[in-house]
Amino acid sequence: MSQPISQRDAYLIINAGSSSLKFSVFCGAGKAELDAVLSGQISGIGTEPKFEAKDAQRRVLADGTVDEVEPGDRAGLLGFLLSWMRHELKDTRLVAAGHRVVHGGTRFAKPVRITPQVLADLEGLIPLAPLHQPHNIAAMAALAEVYPELPQVACFDTAFHQTRPWQAQTFAIPRELTEEGVRRYGFHGLSYEYIAQRLPQIAPELADARVVVCHLGSGSSLCALRAGKSMDTTMGFTALDGLPMGTRPGNIDPGVLIYLMREKGMGADALEKLLYHKSGLLGVSGVSNDMRALLDSDSPQAAEAVELFCFQVAKQATALATAMGGLDAVVFTAGVGENSAPVRARVAEKLAWLGVKLDGAANRAKATRISAAESRVPVFVIPTDEERMIASHTLDLLANATGAAASAAPLPVAAE
Ligand code: ADP
Repeated sequence: MSQPISQRDAYLIINAGSSSLKFSVFCGAGKAELDAVLSGQISGIGTEPKFEAKDAQRRVLADGTVDEVEPGDRAGLLGFLLSWMRHELKDTRLVAAGHRVVHGGTRFAKPVRITPQVLADLEGLIPLAPLHQPHNIAAMAALAEVYPELPQVACFDTAFHQTRPWQAQTFAIPRELTEEGVRRYGFHGLSYEYIAQRLPQIAPELADARVVVCHLGSGSSLCALRAGKSMDTTMGFTALDGLPMGTRPGNIDPGVLIYLMREKGMGADALEKLLYHKSGLLGVSGVSNDMRALLDSDSPQAAEAVELFCFQVAKQATALATAMGGLDAVVFTAGVGENSAPVRARVAEKLAWLGVKLDGAANRAKATRISAAESRVPVFVIPTDEERMIASHTLDLLANATGAAASAAPLPVAAE
């Protein structure tokens, strides 16, 4: 048994998907001293729920099936989580929950306290993100059901990109469609916001710099950051656009979709499956969607998938440099960006003409600064932390709201 954590404020951070709910818990009295104390997930929602949790040192605290709740009962599962937290975090008050929400549309440019009206507004955005938004909303509604007095905050993947100039937000289509909301939103905003705050702490001379951030994970995108603000990004109306990803194609000529509809009789559902689940690294390699497996594979198609990925990262990074009028630094982050030295090396080689040169040993060692001393453009590896960003927004929003302290409460007995 781990030691119970002493009396402090706790923030529950939730990232809800279709069949899983990832959570983390941060404790601390202020933004500068937020400690990640727990993380884990409930997986198998709707089939056979499983609960896993680890402490800050990655020690396993829980790992087993949840038999006492109906598999599809999200409120029951959240009640189970709260009850477990109550036991684990003795003497700690749960102050609020912060949710990662995929889409804020044009309306939500910053985090917002969840109210019935906000929930209704978020439901109105479901057509823009039908695969993710309903699950984000379901988790908020379920938590409100099991713990109505707990303040909840929504933090959006799209919000950070609202600073982009008009031309970076707009498709060249009839204006009526743009006005209806058919526009480039961009995603991974919480990750980019975190990096925008972290980079000047690591390299203060880059506070006003033009930086391409490469968020390379199972979902991948790039962001052009100028003085910490998003100027452009590779994802668009949905998280399909831009770079090739684990199972998504990235940029694709829309004529391909018309061809598939006409010649193959594919409808929206079949196209959705093709574009979200069967394309990208998996589709090209026929081996895996996981970069590790591709780098370890002897298959020529796996090598081609890696090459295609690195080519597009470098090519689109160059386009983003144009959006900022230059390039002063590059940052790699997320699963592939933080962990794959070969991918970073290949992307950097392709950006050599822009003055990018890595220090091979620093790159292999995953140093924070991996560029060679003579590189015109410094290159960094910075682990992202979207959950901490959400915790920090949640704390800010509650600190600014009147009566927030009054609504802080110990974890509820009712959740047991
Ligand atoms: P998500 O987009 O789901 O948040 P992550 O940012 O966690 O994804 O990235 C997950 C991906 O990171 C995995 O699919 C895997 O391909 C990749 N990855 C993790 N570790 C390594 C590694 N050592 N080398 C190459 N790729 C890695």
